[in-house]
Amino acid sequence: MIAKVEPLTSARALRGPFDYRVPREMPGVGVGSMLVVPFGPRRVLGVVVDTADRSELPEERLVEPLATLGRELPAELLRLGLWVAREYCSTPARGLGLVLPPGTGRGAAPRVSARRVLVAELTAAGRAALGGGVRLGSRQRAAIAALSRGAVPAARLAREAGCDHATLRALERRGLVELRRDELRRRPSVPGVGARGRGEVSLTADQEAALAAVMARLDTSPEVGGRLLLHGVTGSGKTEVYLRAVAAVLERGRGAIVLVPEIALTPQTASRFEERFGDAVAVLHSRLSPGERYDEWWRLRRGDARVCVGPRSAVFAPVERLGLIVVDEEHDSSYKQEGDPRYDARRVAERRAEEAGAVLLAGSATPRPESWRALRRLSMPSRVDRRPLPPVELLGMAGRAGSLHPRTRAALEEVRTARGKAIVLLNRRGWSNFVSCRGCGRVWECPQCDVSLVLHRARARLACHHCGHAEPAPSACPDCGSVSVGRHGAGTERLEQELTALVDPVPVTRLDADTGGARAGAATALGSFEAAPAGVLVGTQMVAKGHDFPDVTLGVVIDADATLRFPDLRAEERTFALVAQLAGRSGRGPAGGAVLVQALDPSARSLRHAALHDAEGFLAGELARRKELGYPPFTTLVRVVCSAASRGPEAAAAAAVRAALEPQVAAGISILGPAPLFRRVGRERAQLLVKSRDRGAAIDAVRSAVETAAADRSLRGAALSVDVDPQ
Ligand code: ADP
Ligand code: ZN
Ligand code: ZN
Repeated sequence: MIAKVEPLTSARALRGPFDYRVPREMPGVGVGSMLVVPFGPRRVLGVVVDTADRSELPEERLVEPLATLGRELPAELLRLGLWVAREYCSTPARGLGLVLPPGTGRGAAPRVSARRVLVAELTAAGRAALGGGVRLGSRQRAAIAALSRGAVPAARLAREAGCDHATLRALERRGLVELRRDELRRRPSVPGVGARGRGEVSLTADQEAALAAVMARLDTSPEVGGRLLLHGVTGSGKTEVYLRAVAAVLERGRGAIVLVPEIALTPQTASRFEERFGDAVAVLHSRLSPGERYDEWWRLRRGDARVCVGPRSAVFAPVERLGLIVVDEEHDSSYKQEGDPRYDARRVAERRAEEAGAVLLAGSATPRPESWRALRRLSMPSRVDRRPLPPVELLGMAGRAGSLHPRTRAALEEVRTARGKAIVLLNRRGWSNFVSCRGCGRVWECPQCDVSLVLHRARARLACHHCGHAEPAPSACPDCGSVSVGRHGAGTERLEQELTALVDPVPVTRLDADTGGARAGAATALGSFEAAPAGVLVGTQMVAKGHDFPDVTLGVVIDADATLRFPDLRAEERTFALVAQLAGRSGRGPAGGAVLVQALDPSARSLRHAALHDAEGFLAGELARRKELGYPPFTTLVRVVCSAASRGPEAAAAAAVRAALEPQVAAGISILGPAPLFRRVGRERAQLLVKSRDRGAAIDAVRSAVETAAADRSLRGAALSVDVDPQ
């Protein structure tokens, strides 16, 4: 038999799969098998993507795999990985890398494997000895007593019953105890913020209707599947609908994937699934140790767990007989992967659901125009308990000094007096966003990127938010010696100090990439804000995620239109979502709530609609605008970024890609650029944008143009990256 193998190497120019002859002594090799194969002078791991009876290669050039790992990738995941590679103009190896078992490594030996520990258990004779009548030393007696309620890992016996190995071996020789090596699950813990354990609630009429629509899809013939958008305002109880839908899927003997934005930021959702379904849930998140990730993956693969909850990568979880994929907070930008392959988990979820005959259920209070247009809508227009959405007031800041409007100050002072809770959003971290010399006008910039440095006062550093460069905060100008250094603009760090002064003694908690850096900080900040009777949570968009804190009565957005000041096709959509989501955090309890939104220009369309909680009106206008301009979802955009360590090669590569694309213009694609991009992490950059009404045509054209350029030796100084559906 011939196995067609994709070697898992990083080279872009490779044209696999490659043929290998599988000898008779290596049985069980088929599509999805993982093999160690000789590849040039090296040995690499490869995945069998197809098999054949004979090869085009001459017999003498065919070689045999060195070993089979005896592990198999489900065919469904294999196809999905290869599809991602094509759809996002990446390589098969990188696409497959997304679906491999965790800890696979590169060679024959996996980097991570199951954890086996020595476990002791009483034999029948041992249990009989519990009743006495057998002569035992005191240590032996203690061990037998400790084992009376079942098997225990030897290490724990040593710790808790002071029973050493020698004692256990002695008991084993006497036939009283059996020792064996068992797999021990490394159990990840989900931070439990806000898991209030409400148990079963009775559904509202809206929830009933939404659930019925999901079930109807689930129970039609599996090929039909269905793509649904649960448009429910903040606090309408979307999670409960997901929970019930998952329960229904499990009853039908099928499995489910629940995608959530970054778990550290939305721990409530994940913990509610664990609470409801217990061990049937495998949770994957970024803070798992490699061992925990390995165990969770295999629990799914073996069918011990049938629901996977996790961030975007969970869309590749080995859930079998998939019946449902939920995409919670489907507007969240974390569903897009930033490195190659730059996949969008929402699109992958659609594809996977379609292939598996599963239902796709995307939910949000602020859906994307793409989903609004393409998915069947289920609507939950009111909050559970019929509480009204909080009134939103827009406050114009033009011509005003200081970062807080008098109305905002007054409202925060009320929170202080009432010892209440507020959330304040400013989507800019640090102390001030740029620093300049008052003497000569020098602006401190990153040596590696064409951007100004941000002052972080507590750390006394200037930092680049693009590459991580940091330097000590200046006390004088190196150019003119002036000691007058101006700090301009305000970020969360400065706002935190201002708020602390304003609401003291109410505690102020800051949540942004600096405080939640390792992401451990996020759960801690959210946890302490939730537990405290009073407080102000201030931070970047992290504070606007789907948190459910019923005692928050005030939401504030500072500089809400900052996002609109950059030219970006999604600026309006982002601004709307950010403001509407933050508004959704307020007034979720009996005390009600209010929202204040500060902006330079409060008449902006996205702000006006957000203030009215009017997603429908916003989306109608946004889709009309996109249609007129020929933007997604009416077209597909593909971005190609060429970069190089010095100026020149990036422009040459961009020109070459453009030339290779040129013949496709007749076929209905248009090309914008090359245009220079600002230097980033020391790399000069140029970008091309390809646009087409025909998605497949745009992607195919870019793939072949990039492959042509990658194979051109004269362009070796440049790196190419492709982003389909750039955000
Ligand atoms: P959303 O995700 O739509 O913003 P959540 O799912 O967070 O809303 O639900 C808001 C709150 O309402 C949660 O605390 C949840 O436990 C509660 N809840 C949901 N459904 C019901 C119901 N049918 N009856 C009572 N409380 C509910
Ligand atoms: Zn100066
Ligand atoms: Zn930088």
